[in-house]
Amino acid sequence: MAEVFPVSLKALVSALQALPGVGPKSAQRAAFQLLERDREGMGRLAEALTTARASIGHCERCRMLCENHVCRLCADPGRDSATLVIVESPADVAAMEQATDYRGRYFVLNGRLSPLDGIGPDEIGGEALEALLAGGVGEAIVATGATVAGEATAHRIAELAAHHGVRTTRIAYGVPVGGELEYVDDSTLARAFSGRRAVEE
Ligand SMILES: [Zn+2]
Repeated sequence: MAEVFPVSLKALVSALQALPGVGPKSAQRAAFQLLERDREGMGRLAEALTTARASIGHCERCRMLCENHVCRLCADPGRDSATLVIVESPADVAAMEQATDYRGRYFVLNGRLSPLDGIGPDEIGGEALEALLAGGVGEAIVATGATVAGEATAHRIAELAAHHGVRTTRIAYGVPVGGELEYVDDSTLARAFSGRRAVEE
């Protein structure tokens, strides 16, 4: 079969497959759509990707996505350093901030323990988390999802926290089993947060 598409188009289709859940077919569709209907959008996309890649990193303290060494929440002197909410993703921080009146600090795991996928303590920032737990935190509130991996992660964190003399609570009430935090509606998340309970190690 003769090659019908230009090299740059093939490269675009291949690059679009870096997006989660996008396979060859939908990447090709997206490429055609952009080329035929939205050249301007292509420019914005290219620029946003380049800028984000160059400027967005992780907060040194809490691993939130940010553009400086330390994120806005960590840099805010009005936040209470005695409580630490531990979440799986930056989206969970946004969800918590929107749904609750929590004024403490966060730690973002950027994943959850999953030994079979090669995700161990190092991959979820174990060392940085320990540094925070050792630094005057009184209560660690584990807000990982109600999935098997989320529960396993919560137990591991409870062990770590206990090692540093930090009390651990777990949000539970109202978060459906198998539920990802960012998809839980605001009022459910707010109740789950206020109904947190101690985690058995
Ligand atoms: Zn931070």
